[in-house]
Amino acid sequence: MPTPATILKETFGYDTFRPLQHEVIENVLAGKDTLAVMPTGGGKSLCYQIPALILPGPTVVVSPLIALMKDQVEQMRASGVAAVFLNSSLSPEAYAENMQAVRARQVKLLYLAPETLLTPRIFNLLDALQVSLLTIDEAHCISEWGHDFRPEYRQLVEVRRRYPQAVCLALTATATPRVRQDIARSLGFSQANEFVASFNRENLYIEVVPKREAQRQVLRFLERFKDQSGIIYCFSRKQVDELAAALAHHGLAVRPYHAGLGDDERRRNQEAFIRDDVQIIVATIAFGMGINKPNVRFVIHYDLPKSVEGYYQEIGRAGRDGLPAHCLLLYSYGDASKLQFFIDQKKGEERRVAMAHLDAIVRYAEDERHCRRKPLLAYFGETFSAEKCGSCDNCNAEPPALEDITLPAQKFLSCVWRTGQRFGMGHVIDVLRGSKNEKVLQNQHDLLSTYAIGKDLSEKQWQGLARQLLQQGYLAQSGEFRVLTLTEKALTALKKRAAIYGQLQEAEERPRNEKARQTELEYNNALFAILRQKRKDLADEAGVPPYVIFSDKTLVEMAAYYPQSPRSLLIISGIGQAKAAQYGEIFLSILRPYCEKHGLKEISRPRTVSSSTSSAGRKAKDEGNLSERTLLVAEAYNTGESVATLMKRYNVSVATILDHLTRYAVAGKRLRNGVDLQALTSTSPNEQQAVFAAFDEFGTDFLKPVFDKMGGKVNYDELRLLRLMALAEKD
Ligand code: ADP
Ligand code: ZN
Repeated sequence: MPTPATILKETFGYDTFRPLQHEVIENVLAGKDTLAVMPTGGGKSLCYQIPALILPGPTVVVSPLIALMKDQVEQMRASGVAAVFLNSSLSPEAYAENMQAVRARQVKLLYLAPETLLTPRIFNLLDALQVSLLTIDEAHCISEWGHDFRPEYRQLVEVRRRYPQAVCLALTATATPRVRQDIARSLGFSQANEFVASFNRENLYIEVVPKREAQRQVLRFLERFKDQSGIIYCFSRKQVDELAAALAHHGLAVRPYHAGLGDDERRRNQEAFIRDDVQIIVATIAFGMGINKPNVRFVIHYDLPKSVEGYYQEIGRAGRDGLPAHCLLLYSYGDASKLQFFIDQKKGEERRVAMAHLDAIVRYAEDERHCRRKPLLAYFGETFSAEKCGSCDNCNAEPPALEDITLPAQKFLSCVWRTGQRFGMGHVIDVLRGSKNEKVLQNQHDLLSTYAIGKDLSEKQWQGLARQLLQQGYLAQSGEFRVLTLTEKALTALKKRAAIYGQLQEAEERPRNEKARQTELEYNNALFAILRQKRKDLADEAGVPPYVIFSDKTLVEMAAYYPQSPRSLLIISGIGQAKAAQYGEIFLSILRPYCEKHGLKEISRPRTVSSSTSSAGRKAKDEGNLSERTLLVAEAYNTGESVATLMKRYNVSVATILDHLTRYAVAGKRLRNGVDLQALTSTSPNEQQAVFAAFDEFGTDFLKPVFDKMGGKVNYDELRLLRLMALAEKD
């Protein structure tokens, strides 16, 4: 009898379960109806695919996303699992053929659209079989509170009554408690069998950058993601067309996607993206629902999203394969005003809700101090308790330099007070800047003591200041007209003349801390490119998306561990027996000569023990928190190998090797202080002594204070190297 863990490795090629997968699978196998809530990319599919291979009868999967079924079936077949789908997209012949396969009990997994399932024809078919598992994918569609209610989903209860022996598994990525309750209640589940995974997606690097010359910023960003897949979201169709054209003009492989295009063109563009024919899709938010592409390496928001929820859903489309992915939001307050304009056309409750959403996303975008994950996860009712996540801009940058803004802040707060806490930001600024507009005169605000006391700052600067006061909790904003009022904190500050800190200049784009990107594994880029091309050729031949053949993760591991035999291939993540049999030799015939030519040896991949609980899996990763490659590099270095040798072996830059060594040393491990480090620096002995003294004074966590102390004379590359020497010298 195969166990979930053996199927995970042998069929799917994975070593460990993602959080809650194992628990959900065991619960289903125990015959208990189960609700599993996991974020996009959390790995919901395996939760029914593995039981399907263990249970005696077929598994029925209900999904509203017809476009995805074909994809899922292709992926299953590539892993050697007998799967078919039935929906309106099939030709009559293909439909009949699939029906026949199910009738002949040759099928383990049957994907159906709800409207297909609810037909006499399918009931007849299923009546003759003993359905073991009824899976309801996108289960939030059953709830009127969800964002995607589908009346057919309500009727699924009939299916349950008809097949009482089948255990039911409901899956969704919608976490709101109300929707969850609704699903469980509609399907008659007990609360004990609910599994809610964390919505924190650790592999997403989250960044917000002030929007300046947006197009240039995007082009610069894309330089770092050459040949990688990504989505750029824009607010309007026009913007999509313009940006797509501009990027194409710069030689990038890009297609637009929005509701204004014909069905055919939309479908073709989506297909080109999924098949890696083009790397970039520029889209309105209409794009993404029906796609399953796991190797989306970046998501850019060119314009401000309408809500935090929508934003999180959109960035969630990046990095489903678990490899690092980058999420960039270009923010300008002007974009918020644009959205405000649209909101102003709405009325009543709708308007109130839209405004609350806008306020929340603006607050999120303008926060430069707190970990990005805190507000995002708070939205899903989850507390992110760590102080820093390590993979967002705010956790990695030095906080912005602060200046004393007490005086202008006092002016602003007093003006809010003097005008009776009845006005919005615009009016308060008008009063401060001495405007003679009608509203000011009518209210006789030109007679106030705070009238015209703020001419020294521009309107923009005052807006920036007011937003900081909101952010820091001195002001509250409420109601349809966004009236500003003073908080307790403001009253105290005014009374005690407490100092207030902030920035008067507009925010600058902060220097990027490249170290922040958590590349789990360094790999040979040249080899990866060759493997990827092979994958693309095979996929085109078979008429499937490349990820059906192998995921990026699988290719990355091949290009990192250099497997030379079928046995070593089976240890690579994502290679189960079926894929090894089908593609193993083809890839080995690339790997072997390449490695021979470049003098590369197979590196044994640490076999991660398949953990029965997710917490054990997490613990293994936390152990020292160092990646396998960091350990390999640092240990090789400690046994006397030179930096130059290591650069050659892994085909990476000196900075990358130094980065590994630094991580190793920072984790408190002993590092040899070899002569080659000394040879790499071009600083004088005197400068070195001064830098070491500065590290003693300020610690080694941040370079900026040391940089400043040295008067900017020693550049950051040098400082990184000297920091490593300082760390290596210890004990
Ligand atoms: P969801 O439906 O929750 O968005 P999927 O089921 O599509 O997520 O899984 C996302 C990706 O993660 C897929 O490419 C899948 O093969 C991969 N995956 C799922 N479970 C694991 C696991 N335990 N180990 C490694 N990869 C996994
Ligand atoms: Zn963070």
